[in-house]
Amino acid sequence: MAIATINPATNEIIKTFTALTNQEIELKLALADSTYGKYRQTSLTQRSQWLNNAAAILERDQEKFAQIMTLEMGKPLQSAIAEVKKCAWVCRFYAEKAPEFLADKAIATDATSSYVSYQPLGIILAVMPWNFPFWQVFRFAAPALMAGNVGLLKHASNVPQCALAIADIIHEAGFPEGAFQTLLIGASQVADIMKDDRVKAATLTGSEPAGASLASIAGSQIKKTVLELGGSDPFIVLESADLDQAVATGVQARMLNNGQSCIAAKRFIVTENISDRFTEKLIAKFNDLKVGDPMAKDTDIGPLATRQILTDLETQVETAVEQGAKVLIGGQAYRDRLGNYYPPTILTNIDLTSSTSKEEFFGPVAMLFVVKNLDEAIALANDIPFGLGASGWTNDAEEQQKLINAIEAGAVFINSLVKSDPRLPFGGIKRSGYGRELGVEGIREFVNQKTVWVE
Ligand code: NAP
Repeated sequence: MAIATINPATNEIIKTFTALTNQEIELKLALADSTYGKYRQTSLTQRSQWLNNAAAILERDQEKFAQIMTLEMGKPLQSAIAEVKKCAWVCRFYAEKAPEFLADKAIATDATSSYVSYQPLGIILAVMPWNFPFWQVFRFAAPALMAGNVGLLKHASNVPQCALAIADIIHEAGFPEGAFQTLLIGASQVADIMKDDRVKAATLTGSEPAGASLASIAGSQIKKTVLELGGSDPFIVLESADLDQAVATGVQARMLNNGQSCIAAKRFIVTENISDRFTEKLIAKFNDLKVGDPMAKDTDIGPLATRQILTDLETQVETAVEQGAKVLIGGQAYRDRLGNYYPPTILTNIDLTSSTSKEEFFGPVAMLFVVKNLDEAIALANDIPFGLGASGWTNDAEEQQKLINAIEAGAVFINSLVKSDPRLPFGGIKRSGYGRELGVEGIREFVNQKTVWVE
């Protein structure tokens, strides 16, 4: 895949970039390595100061950064601005909380003193996706830098200007140049970097094949990885739920980021006693969504990030229909538009044995399933290789508890959409990956939890 900015609203090539050569990569690795030796000696107070500066820069130039994101991957400008603000939040969060999260943890033993000390590992490689091109990177960078690690970013090939802007922000904030660097490289160049002795660990957010590939190389080198992969989150609605609220939130949860979010509500599972009313309301809300120019203020859904994603989604919907699914609304890409536009789509009557019923649809396509009761809803929700998040809608306390206990996912949100929040751990189980980002758990992923015993 070429490293380039291609406007998904027009498919115009805006700017192309040449991938770094092996020599250029070596220079960056050497700089990261030499910086780490000094950087790990800096105080937490100093790192907090720099991270707070980064937050201020993000807020100062939020419009500019949001424009780059929208230009490169098509998310509506308003959500791009919200994303920049959230990046500032995660910076401030870790600037404030890291001293507490990284403080020595005393453990009473028969030693004079015994405790766990949290120490940095060194160079961490971050392989990141285009869908939240700022947020995914900052949620890695903020805790990693606070812990005293240095970062190398291999961003998705379609968001090079986001990648460069992020490195500039971190540098302008005051961090030494080698503390965080962007590598403009293709996916095939990642393996050698992972094998380099100076690189100690890696985090990857993206698809299953990419995660499996990186993790197997890391495994061969006995290096730690955190993987944040795909999902096909259930959105379960039961009889006692506030139906209007569930529908309104469900639409938001499915359509956020033009439908291209790992934790989007992708499978709506509704009990049969409310399914007609739910379906009618969902169709009405989908019909109201405005698909168009992502730079326009009133746009709800912009173009998909690349032509390939559009083509893949079209094929996936066609296959679902061939396998028996019924299209309630949408179902065909706009052929009269230059950009990668796909309409809000609802599929129902999905054969549970079909391959598409277990796949992730990365675009504005909702799958709708009707079940008899809560037990059937849970069984269906879990009958999938993924386990990222789940949203359950019920006002019955017993049902809520049952969902919390039985759903196989890294997160369960009751009467709310699934979202990431700097204060809470984020991550999946099953084929959605392993490890956690954010919260105290996130900052502890890339540290040596060193046991100390003093007699
Ligand atoms: P992708 O193709 O896997 O790309 C993600 C990153 O991995 C890009 O930087 C890509 O580089 C790189 N990459 C691809 N193949 C690689 C390989 N063999 N070795 C090393 N690096 C490789 O992912 P995508 O399809 O664009 O992203 C969408 C997926 O990400 C969805 O499944 C979504 O659910 C998931 N996602 C998960 C989370 C989460 O937190 N769990 C968040 C966001 C997205 P190139 O661009 O150069 O190919």
